[in-house]
Amino acid sequence: MTKTYDIAAFRALIGAIKCEDNPVLVKQKSRDFYWYSPVLKRELEHVTADLVVSPRSEAEVATVLAAAHKLGVPVTPRGAGTGNYGQAMPLTGGVLLNLIEMNTILDISPGRVVAEPGALLIDIDKAAAPSGQELRMFPSTRATASIGGFIAGGSGGVGSITWGGLRDFGNVLRLRVMTMESEPRTLELTGADLHKAVHAYGTNGVITEVEAPLTAAYDWVDVIVGFDSFDAAAAYGYALGQQDGILKKLVTVVAAPAPSRYFLRHRAIIPEGKSVVLAMVAPHALDALEAFTRPVRGAGILFVSSRAAKDTLTGLPPNYELAWNHTTLRALRVDPAITYLQIRYPEDRGLSLISRIHEIFRDEVLGHLEIIRFNGRVGFAGLPMVRFSTEERLQEIMNEHEAMGAMVFNPHRYTLEEGGMKQTDATQLAFKRETDPQGLLNPGKMIAWEDPAFDYSAGKNFLFPGLEARALAAQV
Ligand code: FAD
Repeated sequence: MTKTYDIAAFRALIGAIKCEDNPVLVKQKSRDFYWYSPVLKRELEHVTADLVVSPRSEAEVATVLAAAHKLGVPVTPRGAGTGNYGQAMPLTGGVLLNLIEMNTILDISPGRVVAEPGALLIDIDKAAAPSGQELRMFPSTRATASIGGFIAGGSGGVGSITWGGLRDFGNVLRLRVMTMESEPRTLELTGADLHKAVHAYGTNGVITEVEAPLTAAYDWVDVIVGFDSFDAAAAYGYALGQQDGILKKLVTVVAAPAPSRYFLRHRAIIPEGKSVVLAMVAPHALDALEAFTRPVRGAGILFVSSRAAKDTLTGLPPNYELAWNHTTLRALRVDPAITYLQIRYPEDRGLSLISRIHEIFRDEVLGHLEIIRFNGRVGFAGLPMVRFSTEERLQEIMNEHEAMGAMVFNPHRYTLEEGGMKQTDATQLAFKRETDPQGLLNPGKMIAWEDPAFDYSAGKNFLFPGLEARALAAQV
């Protein structure tokens, strides 16, 4: 049965805190980039909140959470809504907690920034620039995504080639998290406790303040290197990733024909048929990168941003906006039949497996690799572009990847577990018991909470009853 919430009573309790109830605007704010997945597009199209609430201070967040707790109204936190798996979508309605207006950058000091959750990553970098610093890593959505949303929903990105992922020790320094109780508490998480809330989709607390590490800033130089084969590009990307002396922020490999077909503004730069490596290197590392590249057979430097003419640079997106999930976005804009996968390849035989997979699937699964650090070792994450035909075929492609030894992080699922390690994260679950005893924060995203007996080995998808009920109600 669909639950309805006493929104009038909720509004009376929160007083003058900014709200939006225009159904069109509420629905707009109830989405993210879920539509990258044809499966999620079908499942989540109808999802909408009942009300968007935009607090401007921690005190206002506390008022909202206390009122929602009292009336049993679900609350789904949202930053900029650039997540990919319906992460910030209120599956069973209720309040969409829009945190983007809590965006003050509170302090910049050597090695660290303290900010409210809605601060945009690009604004943090701008604020840190006068001190010669910048964030260690950002998603390719740097220009639009918030620091709170990145930490609650992201995994890593531009910078992960040097610094690893968001969940690695040291890549978040401190979080202030508010609980969903009758009298919300603020908890300060540091050290190992950070794992409770990092990449938990806001299911076990609302992040109200972030402390993140900063590193030395550079005028990063975009370099594009072309190859006649994907295998050669992948091998070069991996070898470049292992060059510890070359200071870099990005190493991305994209298989032909994607670069010339989908990177529309780079058509004059990238010839047809070329697979490419997109790199960002520090200005003082450019000479070393060229010396490293020169002897590599078949490698041709196609573009160096610091040497390009002003006219060439006009309107040209930076390399990082061709990488990570921007690669998929650019492909989707040209060919709406494209979707994607998230893969991790084994460290020991990554290159040979990537080559085999490329050979088997050809144009149906176009190669896209991000070279990153895992626990001190350089490895491959894959975001291959898949030509979608049917949901059954998509599943078959994922099964074949797993059968060959590649690990799939399914981007066509809205739950933490199915998009991740397919098992309960006991730390996050225990924290939710403490911080959200009524299960009102971002319902439906943590299987361990909704259905502790769920059997991952049965091969069935988790279907959140609250979502199904809202879907039926939307049809009536
Ligand atoms: P939202 O989408 O608004 O929220 C993300 C999750 O965090 C949701 O579950 C939400 O409920 C929760 N949340 C938001 N704010 C809070 C808060 N204050 N407290 C508690 N929970 C909160 N991701 C990467 O990791 N790396 C990439 O390189 C990358 N590239 C991308 C490229 C494109 C083109 C797109 C569309 C997405 C990409 N993403 C990437 C995914 C996404 O952009 C990032 O994870 C981004 O950082 C999310 O930030 P946001 O402010 O949009 O968060």
